[in-house]
Order: sequence, then C-alpha cells, then structure tokens
Amino acid sequence: MNIDKFYINGKFITPHGEEKIDIVNPATEEIIGFVISGSEDDVNNAVDSANAAFTLASNLTIKQRKKILEEIIEGMQERRSDFGQVISDEMGAPMSLALKAQFGSGTIHFKNTLSVIEQFSFNEVHDNITINKLPIGPVGMITPWNWPLNQMCTKVASAIAAGTSFVLKPSEITPGAAQILAEIIDTTSLPKGIFNLIHGYGHTVGKLMSSHSGLEMISFTGSTRAGIDIQKNAADNVKRVSLELGGKSPNIILEDVDLEQAVNMGIKQCFFNTGQSCSAPTRMLVPQNLMEQATEIAVAAASEMITGDPKEEDTFLGPISNEKQFKKVQELIQIGIDEGAELSCGGVGRPDGMKKGFYVKPTVFSNVVNSMQIAKEEIFGPVICLIGYSNIEEAIDIANDTPYGLSSMISCGDLNKGQQIAKRIRSGQVILNRISRGDYPAPFGGFKMSGNGREHGLFGIDEYLEVQAVIT
Ligand code: NAD
Repeated sequence: MNIDKFYINGKFITPHGEEKIDIVNPATEEIIGFVISGSEDDVNNAVDSANAAFTLASNLTIKQRKKILEEIIEGMQERRSDFGQVISDEMGAPMSLALKAQFGSGTIHFKNTLSVIEQFSFNEVHDNITINKLPIGPVGMITPWNWPLNQMCTKVASAIAAGTSFVLKPSEITPGAAQILAEIIDTTSLPKGIFNLIHGYGHTVGKLMSSHSGLEMISFTGSTRAGIDIQKNAADNVKRVSLELGGKSPNIILEDVDLEQAVNMGIKQCFFNTGQSCSAPTRMLVPQNLMEQATEIAVAAASEMITGDPKEEDTFLGPISNEKQFKKVQELIQIGIDEGAELSCGGVGRPDGMKKGFYVKPTVFSNVVNSMQIAKEEIFGPVICLIGYSNIEEAIDIANDTPYGLSSMISCGDLNKGQQIAKRIRSGQVILNRISRGDYPAPFGGFKMSGNGREHGLFGIDEYLEVQAVIT
C-alpha cells in the first residue's frame, strides 16, 4: 500500500511532507509500499482542524455519538479482510491471527464503548455543587505497530464517546490499518475535522505533536523510551500525557495447579502474536522443585508451535515485525546465553531452513535469575524465562522486582488465595487461571514504568475528560 494522503478536516489531502518511508513485509523483507512522513505544516494543519472541530465534537449528543460508533463498527466489518491483509503484510501476523484477534481487538473497543456510554456519568450533583466532566480539548494520539488496530481503536472510540476531537499518528511501520479506518470514518456521520490522521516518524511528527501548544493531551501507546521523551516534550505547555508503555509481566504458577495446563497456557499467552504484546507473561515463576518438569512442558509446547509463512493456515508464529526488533531479539537471546541462563530450546539465528524473513526460533530459557538482563528487559519476541521460587513470599518479591507493572498472571488452585496474592502484585491487571479477559471492558494500563493511563470502557472515556465543579 502506498500512503500519500493524510486525512485532515474531512478530506484526503496531499501532505506537504515529501519524505517517503518504506513499508517492509517482514516475512519476505521486501518493500511493499511507502508512507509519507509529515512536515511541521502538516502537523499544524491537523491540529488546527481538530481545534476548529472541538466544539462540534463536544456538542454531539450521546445518541449521535452512539450512532457514529455503530457506523464505524459496521464499516469495519465490511472491510475485515482488507484490515487482515494489511496487518499481516505490514507486521507479519499470521492471517488467521490478523483476521481474528488483530481485527477483533479493534472492533471490540467500539462495541465496548457503545455498551458502556449510557452508564457514564458526565455530571453529578452534590448539594450545591455540580460536577461536570467536560471533554479535555484536542488530543494527539500516537500508536505502535504490534497491535495496530487495537491501540488506535481504543483511543478513537473513547475520544468520540468523550466528545473530543483528535489527531492520530499511527506507527510508520504499520500505517495501513489507520488509513482504512479513515476511509471508513469518512463515510460516517462524524462531523468533519473531529478525526484527523497524519503519518510519519516518531522523532519528527510525533515530537512536533508532543510539544504542540494546540493539543491539550497526548495519548500514547508504545515504548517506555518514547513515552519518557513525549512527557518531557509535553512539559512546556503542561499537557496531560497518558502513557501505555512496556512490560515484563510475571506469571506465578502455584504448586496446587495442574502444571501441564498452567505451563501450556502461559507459553501460549507469552508467544501469541510472536511474543510482541506489551502484556505478554514473559517471566514464568515456577516452584523450584517443579522447574525440570515445567521446562519439559514448556519446551514441548514451544516446539509444537509452527513458525512460518503468515499466509499458511497452521502458522502460529509469524516473523518479528521489523528488522530493528529482530536484531534486538537475537541480541537478547545471545545475552541470555552469555549470562548463564539455561537455553532449553530455540536460540540465536533463524529457524532451520529459513533464509529470509525476520523469523525467530521459539526460545525457552530455564533456571533464569531475575537479575539477568533477559529477565529485566522487554524482549518482544517468542522468548520466555522460567524463574524458580522457593515460597510464595519469594514469588511475590520476584514478580514485583521489575520497573514495569502492566499485567500479571496467576495460576492457582484456590481462587481466594489468588485474589489475596493479586492485591500484593504491583500491576494494572492480574489475570487468574485464564487467557482471555472476558466480556466486560476491564481497565487496562500500568503501574510504575508501564505507564499512567487507563484505557477501555468507562475508564477509557474518563481519560479524555476534565473535571469542573460548578458551585451555586
Ligand atoms: P515506539 O515507542 O518506538 O513507537 C510507538 C509510536 O511512537 C510510533 O508511532 C512512533 O512513531 C512514535 N514515537 C517514537 N518515538 C517517539 C518520540 N520520541 N516522540 C513521539 N513519538 C514517538 O514503540 P514500538 O516499537 O512501535 O512499539 C513497541 C512498544 O510498545 C513496546 O515497548 C510495547 O511494550 C509497547 N506497547 C505498550 C502497550 C500498552 O498498552 N501498554 C501496547 C502495545 C505496545
């Protein structure tokens, strides 16, 4: 896909920026298109458009907002195969994953927002005080490449529900899904100028957005490195910065569970999307006396996963999404070997017989010590660390001994015990004995260096509002 148009003020326009960024298919390493990186004028135009449309967005009734969300859902369903294709081509997701989880993770946010918007309380009265929750003002949204639809749809759905206008900049690695979303939104009843889409590099376009005085907020999903940079650049005009960043999530497996089932579930969850999920449970904490058994199960599960062409139906692991990330994963696997972790399967290099594509061998490290770099740093590939613990207190200490705090898993025989442990884990989500998160849009966001925002459902709408007290 060649992307040479931005969507500003309800029109697809030719941007001022001229630099072309190659779009590379990570399965073939071939260039499959380009996207134009915007200039300062493009950013200014998009921000002006969002400012001009802000009052329109705020004045939309709940009925109108619901209608718009419904229209977007309908439009997305019609373009499902286009979304699946572009996501698979640009970031290497196996087609089945692209069409189901990747596509589904986008539409679900519109559906969930639609299901909760009526419950959201935009004002409350306490004695002589009226509390109004008012749209914050034009928002800049910056999103990553690993779940391209998921991250932008949660922001877009919540912002429409909250009644604000915005400028979206998706990852330059996966710009295609955003372009299709703009085509869909163009056909809906969303008034012109509320949704604006621009493209480009983070260090240029993303930076200009972060420091722009015409935006009241940046909602960012991506690396902790970029999140810190954005916060610094946004400081001068005291912008609200909502950050959804990286993770190094623990998965505590207690002694009283079916080990086979728990390890299999943990491996599947960790390696899903080729390990490129911020919430992936990459540190599996197992009772030390069960380390050998857990390793055997983990190796069997990892070895069964088919790595290969995203177009093949039985492929579970596609390539890593881009060359930079591929090199980082390879480097960290080598670091794990060098620092003395036990390499139980996988390792450096492409899987046997593969000469092209950013493919990585599914890799299990066992007897990892939590102070090792592979246990501390987000690897973002199909790599898991098995770490032993001798008692539950030690497991909780290890789980919390990380700068991150996005998500956690606990496999427990006794749910009450799991609930008690959950309260002691410093992470925004704790998932007990399951993989899927269920139907209710649970708040999603991090503690510590995993960020400060909360997205999805009612919490997502709240992100884009300011609190005003009217005193009579
Ligand atoms: P990245 O931070 O390099 O890029 C993300 C986005 O930020 C892109 O659009 C990029 O252009 C832009 N960007 C980069 N540097 C910027 C800067 N200095 N100023 C403004 N914008 C900038 O991250 P990535 O490599 O695309 O994504 C992977 C990371 O995202 C991982 O660390 C992962 O954990 C994290 N992530 C977090 C969540 C979450 O919800 N917490 C979800 C998915 C991914």
